[in-house]
Amino acid sequence: MHINAIKILRSRKRRRTVSARMVKDILIVRAPESIPESRLQKVIAELKARIERKQLKAELNKHENLAQRAKEFNLRYFENKLNFSSIEYVTDQNSKFGCCNYRTGSIRISHRISTMPQWVRDYVVIHELAHLVVPDHSRAFWDIVNRYKLAERARGYLIAVGGLADLS
Ligand SMILES: [Zn+2]
Repeated sequence: MHINAIKILRSRKRRRTVSARMVKDILIVRAPESIPESRLQKVIAELKARIERKQLKAELNKHENLAQRAKEFNLRYFENKLNFSSIEYVTDQNSKFGCCNYRTGSIRISHRISTMPQWVRDYVVIHELAHLVVPDHSRAFWDIVNRYKLAERARGYLIAVGGLADLS
C-alpha cells in the first residue's frame, strides 16, 4: 500500500501535535489550526518518510525470507550450530549494510542490500551469521566467512559500492 494522496484536517481543538494515519491509500493528517504551513509541511514529510520506510521494510521481508536463507547457511556453513533469534531487513540502518547483535542473536540487514545481486546478499548474511561465532574481524572470523566461495568477490563488490567499513 503506497501513499497516493494526503488529506490535511486542521482543527481548532488540537493544540500541539500532528498525527497521521493511513486510510486505504490516503494519508490523513490531523493538525492544529494554528500551525504554520511551512512547519506542517515539514512534519508531514517526516511522517510520510516514516510510513514509507515501514512499508518498504514489510515489503522486503515479505519478498525475501532472510530467516529461511540463514537456516540454509547454518546447515551448509556452520554445521547447524548457530542460534540466531531474528534476521530481517531494516530501513532505518543507513550507515551499515549489516549488523549483528552477538548477545541477543539478532541480525539486521540494511534495505540498501536488497537491490544487490543474490551472491552479495548471501555474503552479507553469512558475514553477519559468522559474527555469532566470532564477534570481531579476527583471522578466525575470516576463516569462517571464507567457507563461502564468493566471499572475496563480494567484499570487492561492497568496497566498490561504498566501503567495506560499512559492514560491521
Ligand atoms: Zn563484520
